[in-house]
Amino acid sequence: MRAFSLWVRGFLYNVFMSQDSKPSKANTANGAVAEPSNFLRQIIDHDLASGAFNQRTNLAGAAIPSIITRFPPEPNGYLHIGHAKSICLNFGLANDYNAQAGGARCNMRLDDTNPVKEDIEYADSILEAVRWLGFDWGTHLYHASDYFDQLYAFAEILIQNGKAYVDSQSADDIHANRGNFGQAGKNSPYRERSPEENLTLFREMRAGKFKDGEHVLRLKIDMAHPNIVMRDPVVYRIRHTDHHRTGSKWCIYPLYDFTHCISDALENVSHSICTLEFENNRPLYDWIVNALKELGVFKDPVPHQYEFARLNLSYTITSKRKLLQLVEEKHVDAWDDPRMPTIVGIRRRGYTPESIRLFCERIGVSKADSWIDMSTLDQALRDDLEVRAPRATAVLKPLKLVIQNYDAAAKEACSAPRHPQHPEWGNREFNFTRELWIEEDDFMPDPIKGFFRLFPPIGEQAGSRVRLRHGFVIECTGFETDANGKVIQVNANYFPDSKSGTPGSNNYKVKGNIHWISAAEAIPTEVRLYDHLFTDPHPDSGEKNFLDAINHNSKQTITAYLEPCMKDVQAEEHFQFERHGYFVADIKDSKPGQPVFNRTVGLKDSWK
Ligand code: ATP
Ligand code: MG
Repeated sequence: MRAFSLWVRGFLYNVFMSQDSKPSKANTANGAVAEPSNFLRQIIDHDLASGAFNQRTNLAGAAIPSIITRFPPEPNGYLHIGHAKSICLNFGLANDYNAQAGGARCNMRLDDTNPVKEDIEYADSILEAVRWLGFDWGTHLYHASDYFDQLYAFAEILIQNGKAYVDSQSADDIHANRGNFGQAGKNSPYRERSPEENLTLFREMRAGKFKDGEHVLRLKIDMAHPNIVMRDPVVYRIRHTDHHRTGSKWCIYPLYDFTHCISDALENVSHSICTLEFENNRPLYDWIVNALKELGVFKDPVPHQYEFARLNLSYTITSKRKLLQLVEEKHVDAWDDPRMPTIVGIRRRGYTPESIRLFCERIGVSKADSWIDMSTLDQALRDDLEVRAPRATAVLKPLKLVIQNYDAAAKEACSAPRHPQHPEWGNREFNFTRELWIEEDDFMPDPIKGFFRLFPPIGEQAGSRVRLRHGFVIECTGFETDANGKVIQVNANYFPDSKSGTPGSNNYKVKGNIHWISAAEAIPTEVRLYDHLFTDPHPDSGEKNFLDAINHNSKQTITAYLEPCMKDVQAEEHFQFERHGYFVADIKDSKPGQPVFNRTVGLKDSWK
């Protein structure tokens, strides 16, 4: 029965592995979001229906949920948007099946068995990133390094049962003797050591008797196996290096393939979900857990590995190693540079956890590798913030506008809603004065056809009329230039009976509607405008060197003018600057009374 159930699972897996992601999910009338289907859900649904993982108990006999997933990053760098996909998938499945699967959960596991590259700073940042994305592992935080004793004990069991041996070939010889695709490997001359000799050597390895590289522990599988991964893989090596959690306790460390499946089994993970590059390692995963099951260490049901396509996002890279290089070689300011695809970077840029979760839902999960366009992430942010980001006025490229028929000492109170769909949020208050700032782009001395904003009188034709949003209608009367011919001031007259919201103001029909800020009360503010970090949509595909495609103009810092109420915003507050896009108060550089803004995305997709 069980064999049949496993067969059905394998069959379903193969059927669904060719299925593409469902690109987007429909929002239902009440705002709830319909669940998209993916091949992993089909497998889980099947496993729940067949009871494969039901009524499980742990070694102590306590009931455990039928569905347990895990997110297992190595703390050797900061998480990036690709990891967000894995986080949303693993934690998302656990959340969705929680009730159905007896408290389904996702374990947070730091896969920290390589003492050389790992660091507590990275571990802390990983936990912070997962929490920020909105997920919670409760009490289920684990470290692979917590299993070092068990991993070691299981290695001894495998040795005693003739399933592992100590190899004393050099690293080069091990590599050379592994063979190739279509060419069998060669057995090590040390392969037939007795279990007793292997056990003695392995214990001496642990005791620190040997130098790095003198011996390794290998599984005894098959040096002629068609899958090279199965050719007696190395599972332990000597490393005389302290570990950030276990200190100097160990000088031998287990490798990924050995640690990962055993950690899953120890944590009673049911569905071990990873990216496609581990597909070739799945037979080894199964070999190890089944060998230990046969030896009485684990019992059915053992965990099973499933692979999905990693996220590749255009105009960026998702490799911790390459991201580290960008930081170390100072191509960016830091891990949290708002141009970085790290979670800390995209957070600082102004993407919200909601938008990232929405993005991950929209891209779905499939078995087919593909590139997702950056605009998909941007659109998710717009869809999230459109309904909940307060509006504000900012002039990014200021040009002086002088209202000739308005008194220099006068002012007129104006107001605008904080959000057009949220009247309950109240209004922002500001003044109309003689001197205003408008956008440079809203004036053309010599207008092109179809330009409906400000332009001066030309011949017999009067200057254009536009509405200053939430203020008055004005008519352009002329402009002034500097010695180089650059426009430095626009002049206009206003119509006193045209104020927005007053009776009769609708009698003025204008085609242009522009934003403005009183020069007397504008707050000069640092604003950073970002572009893609790379000029190539696929900067590291094929043989390309991603450093060749760095966009050296990806950050522009300007001084913009903001409306008066923007003085007191808090770090990380999001706004829609009307007519411009979504901006966030920088989490690091904003000070009380003096915010600094990052442009997250424009209102429309302007990349194309
Ligand atoms: P990198 O190659 O950038 O170092 P990694 O795969 O080595 O990434 P891990 O810390 O081992 O990083 O990853 C933790 C989990 O996140 C793994 O299950 C991995 O498969 C998944 N993951 C990593 N990168 C991506 C990606 N681009 N898309 C989806 N999942 C990913
Ligand atoms: Mg890895």
